[in-house]
Amino acid sequence: MNKVSKLCFGALTISPLQQNFSPEEAADLMEYAFHQGINFFDTAEIYNSYALFKAFLKRDIPREEVYISTKCYAYDYKTAKSSLDQALKEMDTPYIDLMMLHEQESEHTLRGHSEALDYFALMKKEGKIHHIGMSTHYVQGVLAGAQHKLIEVIHPIINKSGLGILGGNRGDMENALEIAKNNGKFIFAMKVLGGGHLLKSYSEALSYVMKLPWIDSFAIGMQTREEIDANVSSVIHNIIGTDCVNKDRKLIIDPYCIGCGKCIQRCQQKALYLDEGRAKVIKDRCILCSYCVGACEDFYIKVV
Ligand code: SF4
Ligand code: SF4
Repeated sequence: MNKVSKLCFGALTISPLQQNFSPEEAADLMEYAFHQGINFFDTAEIYNSYALFKAFLKRDIPREEVYISTKCYAYDYKTAKSSLDQALKEMDTPYIDLMMLHEQESEHTLRGHSEALDYFALMKKEGKIHHIGMSTHYVQGVLAGAQHKLIEVIHPIINKSGLGILGGNRGDMENALEIAKNNGKFIFAMKVLGGGHLLKSYSEALSYVMKLPWIDSFAIGMQTREEIDANVSSVIHNIIGTDCVNKDRKLIIDPYCIGCGKCIQRCQQKALYLDEGRAKVIKDRCILCSYCVGACEDFYIKVV
């Protein structure tokens, strides 16, 4: 993991859950990002974006110079095998650089997924996975990962306003990250711009996360070359621009919503509620993670 760029290209924003780029559009953008100095690319099984990565990996770039991260909800041998097989097949790659368990909350959830972790450790020995990690919005999740012998990488939420952090505040998360780092874990942060809430204070938000000594790399979702240029300038060349070109994003709920409540149950941030038979969003709480988007079978909720 020590060869990955500090800035990681987060693919959620170009995936079918958000802007729904075609494979070739995505490959063009990711190839551009690579040539600007980003060699680390992050996705997840739930983003349904492996076809975009397949197109990217077909470009004329040596596979060993690109680092691919994905995450899944596997909990036992069978689901872990299925998730890994799917990632390898749909991305058409012989290995995954970083395989993570998605949305871990505490030592209890990690224990509940121990069979999947054991399977990933076996596949690491076979060379199909290079590193094992976990993502979490919870302070307790970071602390649990910090103690787990199979977890090498922790993918936590952290940002200057503490948006989206669960089970504690920003200070608690900083303390947990320090413990994890001291235990030798690689810290790969997410939501450093608070899912878009911090775009108005872009330079302060980036300065905050770049000064944290425990952060090895962090993901930012990017949809245009201008966003890539600005973020590369800030993070890789350390020239933090004050004018943010990153596009503002928002959650939209279609008037045809039938109020089934599935998206509300899926939202960890408690940002959704039912009002007059329709889902409504509390904007200050929504970190645009898009988990609710996948929960709506009728596609009545989306991030644009
Ligand atoms: S899952 Fe879809 S239909 Fe159900 S409440 Fe949410 S937006 Fe409405
Ligand atoms: S409303 Fe949807 S996008 Fe916003 S935080 Fe909740 S699950 Fe994530």
